[in-house]
Amino acid sequence: MSSIVQRTSRVTGTVLTVGLAGELGLTDDDGLPWVVVCEPHSTLVFTDTKREAMTSTGLDFCDDCRAGAAARELDAITTRISRATGTSITVANVTALGIIPDDNDKRWLITCDEHDTSAYSRTKRAAMRVSGLDFCYACHESVEA
Ligand SMILES: [Zn+2]
Ligand SMILES: [Zn+2]
Repeated sequence: MSSIVQRTSRVTGTVLTVGLAGELGLTDDDGLPWVVVCEPHSTLVFTDTKREAMTSTGLDFCDDCRAGAAARELDAITTRISRATGTSITVANVTALGIIPDDNDKRWLITCDEHDTSAYSRTKRAAMRVSGLDFCYACHESVEA
């Protein structure tokens, strides 16, 4: 029976091939018989046990996977200038910030960087539309004045 298995990394969503070095046409490295191959990036790592190979996320050995994950993380935090007030508004995914939302609807945190006020939104789309006037009293004041 072939030892080769393909699995999708839960963390990165990339396809990883796990198998014995010999069956993948590779020479085992320093007596480490198992190999994990990141298919989209053509990178690989040798492991001692199948268990280690099966629990690899790709992030532990593939630089390109790490770069991809970092890019996604950046996407989870966006700073933009409100057109209505000219102040800087940061929209961030609460998970990316390491906040466990007490309410499942509160997934995106919107912060007025100038006045240090914040609000929550259910979706990123909605959060990106918030101008600061919607939740920040100080922004509201500055426009009225
Ligand atoms: Zn990769
Ligand atoms: Zn404000």
